[in-house]
Amino acid sequence: MRRSMTSNSRIVALIVAAGQGSRAGDDIPKQYRRIGSQAVLAHAHDALTAHGGVSAIHIVLGEGEEGRAQSMLGDRTAHFVTGADSRRGSVRAGLEAIATNGGADIVLIHDAARPFLPASVIDRLLAALEDAEGAIPALPVADTLVRSDGALMSDGVDRADLHRVQTPQAFRFETILAAHRGWDETREATDDAQILRAWGHDVILVQGDERLEKLTYPQDFARAEARLGSARTTRVGMGYDVHRLAPNEELWLGGVLVPHDRGLAGHSDADVALHAIVDAILGALADGDIGSHFPPSDPQWRGASSDRFLAYARDLVLKRDGRIDHVDLTIICEAPKIGPHRDAMRARIAEILDVSLDRISVKATTTERLGFAGRREGIAAQAVATLSLPTLF
Ligand code: MG
Repeated sequence: MRRSMTSNSRIVALIVAAGQGSRAGDDIPKQYRRIGSQAVLAHAHDALTAHGGVSAIHIVLGEGEEGRAQSMLGDRTAHFVTGADSRRGSVRAGLEAIATNGGADIVLIHDAARPFLPASVIDRLLAALEDAEGAIPALPVADTLVRSDGALMSDGVDRADLHRVQTPQAFRFETILAAHRGWDETREATDDAQILRAWGHDVILVQGDERLEKLTYPQDFARAEARLGSARTTRVGMGYDVHRLAPNEELWLGGVLVPHDRGLAGHSDADVALHAIVDAILGALADGDIGSHFPPSDPQWRGASSDRFLAYARDLVLKRDGRIDHVDLTIICEAPKIGPHRDAMRARIAEILDVSLDRISVKATTTERLGFAGRREGIAAQAVATLSLPTLF
């Protein structure tokens, strides 16, 4: 029987982070160790929320760890659940908490120690749940496997149908909850797929991903640091804005007060050039536009200096460990002349964005007296921002 996995399925993620494991060579549990600028747990949270289908995240923690976990997560939201002595007990506690908090159609049960989760793995798991109650990511075993007899090699093992199992493991929520409730408490289980199978259901294997490997040893963390440091994505965003020229207004343009007989009217100080740059940066971040962050209807932005908006956009980039590589701005107007103010604008924009001057380009053009800009009714600005962001898998 096929059931459609419609987009309105409620998908909840359960991150298991209750372990005290410190084989990674540090005193703190590995889910709280940092890779790059943030904790392993925060990376796992980001990877799950980056997949648009996940609507809520529950995290199973060791007793009394809520404060530490929240400080590692910053403003990310999650429901915290206190774990148990065993992994199985911790997952059970998490599933019961999800049931109490509105339930779910699908649950993704994930180890915090696998912080780099490609969205494509989640897509494969969800697709597989159209045909089964459970699905898990797995990779074939490439190395030759042997048994050992003390220090001696013993018989080889046929690896043809052996796989390395990863997480997240995906399940129909009600089914895995029932399977956990029905599990013989005197036995332990290494994972949830095993519990589902014991309950009489098939589990589909989907292709896992090398980047999902579990962080266990110190060298795993070193490798993750290197990957994070080198895996950067270039993002380009564009912004466009227009404001009307009106009498009795100051002309703020590119963060500089320009002497002119009229000024720009509209949202805040109506600095059309800075607004275009803000939108270019937000575009590169795929994070809405200036109006969604600073609604024109909100009286607190009336007359506000636009450098605040640009500083805000800069901080959004920094929060994501990003870097502003370049901004190219074109101001479109008949008057005033931009040339005499170009260097001041470049310097002011570079100062607000906290980047070197050679990353900021300011250009200007007229429209040969055509259109609203040509008739001196308003000024338009276009900007392109190039950002470098850490690659999210
Ligand atoms: Mg504007």
